[in-house]
Amino acid sequence: MSPLQRVTVLGATGSIGRSTLDVLARHPQRYQVFALSGFTRLAELEALCLLHRPSYAVTADSASARHLQGALHSAGLTTRVLFGSDGLCEVAAHPQTDTVMAAIVGAAGLAPTLAAVTAGKRILLANKEALVMSGALFMQAVRKSGSVLLPIDSEHNAIFQCLPGDYSRGLGPVGVRRILLTASGGPFRETPLAELSAVTPGQACAHPNWSMGRKISVDSASMMNKGLELIEACWLFDARPSQVEVVIHPQSVIHSLVDYVDGSVLAQLGNPDMRTPIAHALAWPERIDSGVAALDLFKVARLDFQPPDEQRFPCLSLSRQAAEAGNSAPAMLNAANEVAVEAFLAQRIRFTDIPLLIADVLNREQTLKVESLDDVMAADQRARAAAGLWLNRYADQGM
Ligand code: NDP
Ligand code: MG
Repeated sequence: MSPLQRVTVLGATGSIGRSTLDVLARHPQRYQVFALSGFTRLAELEALCLLHRPSYAVTADSASARHLQGALHSAGLTTRVLFGSDGLCEVAAHPQTDTVMAAIVGAAGLAPTLAAVTAGKRILLANKEALVMSGALFMQAVRKSGSVLLPIDSEHNAIFQCLPGDYSRGLGPVGVRRILLTASGGPFRETPLAELSAVTPGQACAHPNWSMGRKISVDSASMMNKGLELIEACWLFDARPSQVEVVIHPQSVIHSLVDYVDGSVLAQLGNPDMRTPIAHALAWPERIDSGVAALDLFKVARLDFQPPDEQRFPCLSLSRQAAEAGNSAPAMLNAANEVAVEAFLAQRIRFTDIPLLIADVLNREQTLKVESLDDVMAADQRARAAAGLWLNRYADQGM
């Protein structure tokens, strides 16, 4: 039996966080919850603390930390409550934690995820935005600390499972021709193009196959999620953007494929439930029960594939361009997208404005060299400022 792993779950109140806690609770002899974090859902965080009794909890600010500390103390728990980015970094790098689930959404996850990497933890990476923003620096930090980096994104976890054990010298030496990144196509795969400008946040968040947080749901609907995943795949597997092909596969049963030079194509299949990649990464190289039902191929019956329509999904080509440009371009793409998605969810812009805002920011802002985390954060801030100006112009035009 493996020794007890002490797990920190960053973003515990979210969709990935809750799925992670579900898997951990199935294996109390293998895993102990060390720390949990939340941001706006304080009551949920309190309930999770009462259930999992972590050593630490992290909230957004000092007032919420005081409130939670009081509530947990009254319930007889000795959990210490920290707050803010410093609190997140402290629990992520804490000597008493072995494994960190990075499941905060967006750029806010970058600092704590990097803190965990630098401290040499086993990283379960769901927070793709962190890697997209800081790719080269992130991977350098992984190599330097010897941290074990395991992808949680279902596609990347599938690719990881289909690659041979050691691909550290790149894909060529292990005979990989291409990575085939599958995408469901989201809720608007077949919506008439003329109707896309009127779709609501509620419709965009109603994903046909997966239940996820709101930001990634909108990203899936615009296919920016696949664009971010393309960049994520390039960093994780040392691939060139041209080696990653996006394949629309509406059933979401094949989670991605690897195409080898001898003509073999390996795929990983399973029901669309994030507990599978989470359990895989938690236990790797062993296997544990995730609570996910066995795949019933007779029920699935058929698997369909089609190429993506880049006119319908301009975010995909914008991401490919940012991947090719490298340096600060992916961080700016990510920041502009975060601002655009938030504005769409707040009903300040239309769904079809998302790629227009991002393209404008990328056209206006120069791509600069990225040599430090400060450079990444500066690119992020420049893009957010440019996106803010775009939103002001948009509001002025009364659109
Ligand atoms: P959710 O929105 O459900 O959860 C996000 C988590 O991050 C919550 O715990 C939230 O706290 C916390 N959070 C939000 N903003 C901040 C902030 N500024 N500072 C600190 N914490 C914050 O998202 P998901 O779980 O769906 O996604 C999490 C990550 O995993 C994303 O990067 C996503 O792309 C990736 N991912 C998700 C998949 C899925 O199936 N859901 C699949 C593949 C990848 P609170 O809720 O308390 O406000
Ligand atoms: Mg994914």
